[in-house]
Amino acid sequence: MENFDPKELPKRALKQIRSLCRGNGAQNDAIQIKNSKEKMISCQAMTTITLEPDIKNEQKKGRHQVGQVLENIDQVQKATQEIVKNTLNNPETRKTISNDLMQRNDQGFASHGELIGADQLNQSFSYHAACQNCQGQGSATCQTCQGQRQERCNKCHGVSMISCPQCQGRGTTLGPNNQQVNCNRCGGRQQIGCILCQRTGRVACRNCRGSGASKCGSCNGTAFFTHITHLIIKIKTLFEVVRNEHPPIITSTLEQKGAKLAARKHIKIRASQIKKDDGGLAIQYNVKFPYSVMDIDINGQTSKIKVLGYKGKIIKTPDFLDHLLGTKTYSLSEIAQNGASADSSLQKLSRTRFIGEALLLTLLHKRKKAMIELKRKFPIGASKNLIQNTILDSKKAIAKITQKSRLLGIGIGIIITLIMDIIYFFLDMRPSLLSIVGNPQMMLLIDLSFIILGGFIAAKISSYMAKRPLRQALGHLITNSAEKKIKAGSSSDQWISYIASALIFLILAFIAGENSPHWLTFF
Ligand SMILES: [Zn+2]
Ligand SMILES: [Zn+2]
Ligand SMILES: [Zn+2]
Ligand SMILES: [Zn+2]
Repeated sequence: MENFDPKELPKRALKQIRSLCRGNGAQNDAIQIKNSKEKMISCQAMTTITLEPDIKNEQKKGRHQVGQVLENIDQVQKATQEIVKNTLNNPETRKTISNDLMQRNDQGFASHGELIGADQLNQSFSYHAACQNCQGQGSATCQTCQGQRQERCNKCHGVSMISCPQCQGRGTTLGPNNQQVNCNRCGGRQQIGCILCQRTGRVACRNCRGSGASKCGSCNGTAFFTHITHLIIKIKTLFEVVRNEHPPIITSTLEQKGAKLAARKHIKIRASQIKKDDGGLAIQYNVKFPYSVMDIDINGQTSKIKVLGYKGKIIKTPDFLDHLLGTKTYSLSEIAQNGASADSSLQKLSRTRFIGEALLLTLLHKRKKAMIELKRKFPIGASKNLIQNTILDSKKAIAKITQKSRLLGIGIGIIITLIMDIIYFFLDMRPSLLSIVGNPQMMLLIDLSFIILGGFIAAKISSYMAKRPLRQALGHLITNSAEKKIKAGSSSDQWISYIASALIFLILAFIAGENSPHWLTFF
């Protein structure tokens, strides 16, 4: 690159423009470069690096050793502030941060407002503090017995006597001579002392097992909390081209596309870490590249183009494709509107490369994707309008030339559906299905599947029929591998197919008499 001859730029630009014009209405001889002025440009640029600290707090039950363990929150805050303040003063850290950036493909050139994680700078701090809920005891007064250690006996409900289990509280039992005799357990008193609480009416609290205290629910009995602070540091970039006497388009191109230009070696940059006047960290770039302004003649029309970098990247150009394709795109939109004698003229139009590509992309992709792909094939020379309108008109034109076949396909599909439904209702198909299934409710599902099947068949036939006119008009564009991916039908065709199938089914269902579905009575 040292011995690069800037005279190369016009040659490279010419090659690119000729290749974009190929097949689009300008012969190579009709495209020529005139009045080219080249020079080498050197300038300086700088990416300033600042820190973006972020703090995330968390809390864990118990004492844990997380990161650096300090005494209290004040110490943690002080420590994090120190780190944020001192990180950029440390020469080692400055080197690590700037090297990370300079080792990227673009060497950090033109990185502006980018947030980059710097994991090696992240740190965690923690301190331990007593649980507020239990004052660091780990336990609290038992809520069940309020610290009384005992609770009411739930066998005798605190009255210390229970109904005698032997005589069921009657006081008497049946004696040997079928006479009522006093119960020998309670002696006729009908009650006996409660066995569970030994007549005290109270038992040891089951929640705290008689200790009067229970585990603190807040700290889970650990008495402490570990408060953790994670300091997460990201670096943020700010890029500027040092003002120079070069044309503004150079500054704006470097600012907007500099990263790619540097990564792909369109421009040569030498990066070095520097200390700014305010002590801040920055990467300074010495930038060098060839630049050229020239006139280009396309079919006798002269316009200016600007070319930058060792690979001859065209950074400014008139929309020459708009100009070359003017009448062709007009014809396309006429076909899109009126469709008159469309087949033959669309075939002719599709031989223009730009329009051919647009038509093929429209067959293969959704509208938005097709626009993006077309822009990728023609990155310069075509205005945004040209790209959008050509894709939109392609879609409409294709709909126009397939219209008759698609409708015919739906028509055939509807007739098939009609025949299927007649067999279903009037040739005893549904009644015999019903006798197999047995359940009239289940028949609703089968009816529904029948409607969907009819719509599916009509939509399929329609999209199959649409392929014929497509192949006639655009067959030369469609390769074998593309053939499989082409979507010839439209979503409105599908709707029409399914709705038609449902209508036919309903009409026949109504006139089917005793074979009418059960669920029709709901209507
Ligand atoms: Zn606690
Ligand atoms: Zn208790
Ligand atoms: Zn008894
Ligand atoms: Zn008791």
